Amino acid sequence: EAAHPEWLWHSGALVRWEEARVHVNAVGHASVAAVFEGIKAYLAADGERLLVFRLEDHLRRFAESARLCRLTLPYDTGRLREAALELLVANGFRQDAYLRPWAYPEGIVRELMLPAGARCEVVVDSWTFDSSLETVPGCRAAVSSWRRIGEAAMPPRAKAFSNYHNGRLALMEARQNGHDWPVMLNERGQVAESAGACVSLVRDGRLVTPALSSGVLPGITRDTVLALARGLGIPVEEREVDRSELYLADEIFFMGTAWEILPVTAIDGLPVGVPGAHPAAEEAAAAETGAGAAGPVARRLLEAYRRLVRGVEGDSPWLTEVKPG
Ligand code: PMP
Repeated sequence: EAAHPEWLWHSGALVRWEEARVHVNAVGHASVAAVFEGIKAYLAADGERLLVFRLEDHLRRFAESARLCRLTLPYDTGRLREAALELLVANGFRQDAYLRPWAYPEGIVRELMLPAGARCEVVVDSWTFDSSLETVPGCRAAVSSWRRIGEAAMPPRAKAFSNYHNGRLALMEARQNGHDWPVMLNERGQVAESAGACVSLVRDGRLVTPALSSGVLPGITRDTVLALARGLGIPVEEREVDRSELYLADEIFFMGTAWEILPVTAIDGLPVGVPGAHPAAEEAAAAETGAGAAGPVARRLLEAYRRLVRGVEGDSPWLTEVKPG
């Protein structure tokens, strides 16, 4: 059994983890409309305080996901904010922690076409995680043959469990072919995002990321990274991104709450940022020039992100301190 904290929050109260039970009808049919969030709380650089990053923004997106899926959340954002903080206090984390609120239609559900406005039960779970902000991570990505869901089929802006089958198929394909993560194109063949993170590239010193209308989840890390880049004087472009640009990029990186800022060192087996290279040249190029490794812009942003979420830059409206009472 996976390690778990002492408490989770279910339908208005803290519940002992072992005692959190639902009826079998809460899985299956009800899951078709379920929505969720993924939020991180970071231990401040002082080692004392736990700081939740962009809690309000995550809870606003949670409410918007429910709205897009025609669900009625029985709690407003203020109550969910209290629940999240109450849970973190109860679990007494002294290290980085992840928060996972989710909502599913309540009661005995035997129909797939859930009625509009179905009322939900809400759960908030939490667990600890190992951040990669103190290391410089890297991954190998590949363009997927699976297209990212688009407005013609599913609302890509909803963080709905159902949407994740799309990313899961793309991820399994990438892994089967020896890559770490997929890059999905949208229905128009333009770059969209990965299977749980948004994507940016850097070319000639400019940071380029697909516009929200490219079929991406409105990523909170994406938004944070764009703000940090602007603050560092890096020009930012939010627009349609061509697949070709991936192969011409100086740098590529993923952005998401879970993955934080994750540099892509190879795309479709080609080292990122190495002109004229082919797969066999990748190792040599990386050893000689550092190319095919995390690029300078990604490194700067990673450092700025680390300082922000760990409270090194001081108080920010994006940080909520977890305080007892
Ligand atoms: N796209 C998808 C499909 C995701 O699941 C996530 C993770 N929530 C993201 C993008 C990145 O969003 P955020 O930065 O808000 O975590």
